[in-house]
Amino acid sequence: MRNHPLKLSKYSVGTGDRFAHQAKAQLQACVQALAKGIEVVPVWNKSNREHSIIGSEPASARQAADAAVKALGWTRPYFVDADHITLETVDRFLDPCDFYTIDVADFIGQAAQEADIDRFVKRHPELLGRLQLEGTDDALEISAEDLRESAHKFLVAVKKAGEVYRKIEQAKGEGNFISEVSMDETDRAQSPIELLIILAAIADEGIPIQTIAPKFSGRFNKGVDYVGDVAQFEREMALDIAAISYAVSHYGLPENLKLSVHSGSDKFSIYPAIHTVMKRLDAGVHLKTAGTTWLEELIGLAESGGDGLALAKEIYAEAYAHRDELCAPYATVIDIDPAKLPSPDEVSGWSPEQYTSALRHVEGAAAYNSSLRQLLHVGFKVAAKMGQRYLDLLEANEAVIAKNVTENLYDRHIAPVFLGAAS
Ligand SMILES: [Zn+2]
Repeated sequence: MRNHPLKLSKYSVGTGDRFAHQAKAQLQACVQALAKGIEVVPVWNKSNREHSIIGSEPASARQAADAAVKALGWTRPYFVDADHITLETVDRFLDPCDFYTIDVADFIGQAAQEADIDRFVKRHPELLGRLQLEGTDDALEISAEDLRESAHKFLVAVKKAGEVYRKIEQAKGEGNFISEVSMDETDRAQSPIELLIILAAIADEGIPIQTIAPKFSGRFNKGVDYVGDVAQFEREMALDIAAISYAVSHYGLPENLKLSVHSGSDKFSIYPAIHTVMKRLDAGVHLKTAGTTWLEELIGLAESGGDGLALAKEIYAEAYAHRDELCAPYATVIDIDPAKLPSPDEVSGWSPEQYTSALRHVEGAAAYNSSLRQLLHVGFKVAAKMGQRYLDLLEANEAVIAKNVTENLYDRHIAPVFLGAAS
């Protein structure tokens, strides 16, 4: 056992940097939070899917993060996350990463063996009946049937997570990395009861997770706001945190274990609820905001006018032309109304202001177009194909883009969630 295992701080923010050009601008947002007295640790995440679409290697995310940290003199912790990896995709992330989001969503619902279910149920009599959890007035009521049913549904996924964890542990050594288990990319939300049962199984499997990402109720579409009942989300989150506290004290999971909210970006309407619950229960949170930094690059390019604006328009035209192909991998997490997409012809006549106000996510603003935003959100492949031409313009317009990246991450994500300031 290592003396000082890597430990994730109470507050952390996961940011995506698809083209590895904005790490410094993103880190600047954490610098601003620290100046206000709140340490929010940056975690740069990039999934295998993103690397494959862009044609990049995980080592590039590490290099970008290290360079940003050096440039800004950041002395607090930071991590590079192998986002949503599996047994099949983890290999090339073993060297450059120190945070692993182990995705087992595909295994949820695969029937566990009866003997495994029996063993689990026998091992956990404490879960049966009425559980009064600390920090909440609600109690959880778990029947023998619930316990068997959840074991049936989740044990295979948890075992799979154990396999992935042990593969990473073998390569990196115990305590040298942070592990998270994610179950968010599935079609049904997990209840707090299910979360508690999953945590018991994860502890049995010996995975010292520091974050867990359940799927919450409501819709978490890419790059647009939450769709669902915010009050219910708040109750659910409080119960999830209470379930985590129980699991920490009863099953010996790491004491800093916390929820990871995979937001798919821009869940502005639940941010105040997250802040409230976090403060009330004195809990930590990992907020994964993912890929909207790439949209800030587009906003910055459009705002710059000239070649930048022209390229932003070209990207829209290409994304529009290939919309079916671009949307397919994200079908379950986007909601685009084709009738609301302006024609590339129309967009070609837009001013910088018209482009940025259609794309910028300001709920209620007359010009804001969520269909256009979602299409561009999944359209990063178009920019990836442009290769150096896109990167050259990012560099030429760095100042305008960086300002948008920092402001977006700080004002609209970090401040409302961790500082409780209105966005
Ligand atoms: Zn996720």
